[in-house]
Amino acid sequence: MTISLEELQQQLRTLRLAETATYLPSLIQQAETQDWTYRTFLNQLTAYELKRRDEKQIEKRLKWASFPFHKTLDTFNLEEQQSLGKKQMNQLKEFTWLDQLYNLIILGPPGVGKTHLATGLGIEAIHQGYKVSFVSMGQLIHILKTEEITRKSQTKMKRIRESNLVIIDDLMFMAMDAREANLFFHLINDLYDKASVILTSNKGPNEWGELLGDPGITTAILDRILHRAEVVHFKEDDSYRMKHRSSIFME
Ligand code: ADP
Ligand code: MG
Repeated sequence: MTISLEELQQQLRTLRLAETATYLPSLIQQAETQDWTYRTFLNQLTAYELKRRDEKQIEKRLKWASFPFHKTLDTFNLEEQQSLGKKQMNQLKEFTWLDQLYNLIILGPPGVGKTHLATGLGIEAIHQGYKVSFVSMGQLIHILKTEEITRKSQTKMKRIRESNLVIIDDLMFMAMDAREANLFFHLINDLYDKASVILTSNKGPNEWGELLGDPGITTAILDRILHRAEVVHFKEDDSYRMKHRSSIFME
């Protein structure tokens, strides 16, 4: 008695090979038309399931990361600015710094591509197997303050704590009160020997103090962030928005 295709698919689903179950008819057809050996057939089947699992894992991680937009490094134009060279970009893309728990600080005025670069690195890191979380500083403070209260904040905080790379966008945009600075310090402290952090900011570390309020906390946060850190500093004249804006004046 030969087993029907539907029954085979059902068995694959029971074995939690749902992707392969869907693909099975096409796989069997290819095997028949191309006279595959048993071994080739089985290998095609397992390879397909593994490939789909990888793809789904990446999709899931991209969703979890919650990037503000899907902009990759491929569309990040290095010619537009002088602050980051091709060699440095390639080093960033290799993610040795991530394995070594280095932090990356991206500074510069609005519109120079800080968020684009951070997001592009985050997306690339996910494709290379890392877990990434993206959060704006404003969101982060809100999430930290409501972690005990709302499930949504709890879930997001859990993902942040499990990430290999945490991107905190637009740091120090707003002044923090003592409780907020304290919560932020605890997070940075927790991440210190577990994950890398990318911080973007339009203000340099020398100005972070006044926005964090407490000098003791500021020093403690800076210590941890800057202990192992690389800085990319975009300048005013790197501004992509400025150069690509539509203008009412003729050149
Ligand atoms: P910032 O976070 O520094 O304010 P963004 O990353 O939001 O700036 O960049 C502003 C806009 O300009 C985005 O649409 C971004 O994709 C684009 N942009 C900035 N720099 C570059 C670049 N070097 N190559 C391509 N696009 C860029
Ligand atoms: Mg930005």
